[in-house]
Amino acid sequence: MGHTAPRGPPTICEPSMSDRSRIEWTQATWNPVTGCDRVSAGCDHCYALTLAKRLKAMGAEKYQQDGDPRTSGPGFAVTIHPAALDQPQRWRSPRTVFVNSMSDLFHAKVPTSFVSDVFDVMVDTPQHTYQVLTKRPLRAARIADQLPWPSNVWLGVSIEDMDVAHRVDHLRRVPAAVRFLSCEPLLGPLDGLDLTEIDWVIAGGESGVNYRPMDIRWARGIRDACLHAGVPFFFKQWGGRNPKSLGRMLDGETWDQMPEMPEGTQFPQPRRASR
Ligand code: SF4
Repeated sequence: MGHTAPRGPPTICEPSMSDRSRIEWTQATWNPVTGCDRVSAGCDHCYALTLAKRLKAMGAEKYQQDGDPRTSGPGFAVTIHPAALDQPQRWRSPRTVFVNSMSDLFHAKVPTSFVSDVFDVMVDTPQHTYQVLTKRPLRAARIADQLPWPSNVWLGVSIEDMDVAHRVDHLRRVPAAVRFLSCEPLLGPLDGLDLTEIDWVIAGGESGVNYRPMDIRWARGIRDACLHAGVPFFFKQWGGRNPKSLGRMLDGETWDQMPEMPEGTQFPQPRRASR
């Protein structure tokens, strides 16, 4: 699924089409699927949806199919791209790869056989660490036993408020080496969120013209829940009209904690929080 760039666009969707992402916690993006449909409040300002419209107008090949205007938009129909499957094989140096920044790998319209093809590539390229973020973990859980779960594949779910807390329960059913939460854009308190078997939490506010402000109590709440549960916490940004304007300090500290890397991971060592 699409996801927010750290100090950039307004939603959970990363804009970079290149192999050098601007996301702080990832190094590359790979989009073997493009297009999606809005599924919850966190999708309201989906950056990928907006970007797809622009890319269509520019004639970008991958963005010529239109989605349902009620939930998607121009250039944003769910489309698989078999020709993009071998892209990670061409990256010689190990990197962290954000999978489907312009879509959601577990969207119902992505055939299970194609999800499986994507996993095969991830298995065949153990030098890379793959971060898959979804708002559809129920499907991930349903087909999990048809997929390999190598140690270089991390699975995360987006949680913008407690209305979608059930996504964490589905995530727990998936045998991913690292399970993480992207609480971004954080739209409400997450009090009481169960962090059992969760390895990493990222939180951040929304940015862009129509951003929805994040209450400091929500940010503190999820940070303190992580501290209490011993879960690494990464605070990405406050958000705001200008993504950089409010910075990314929370109570005077930068929160850059990363999960423990599974054995065999070749990505740079985890950074630790400043405290
Ligand atoms: S789930 Fe789909 S519509 Fe929602 S933010 Fe992600 S890419 Fe956009």
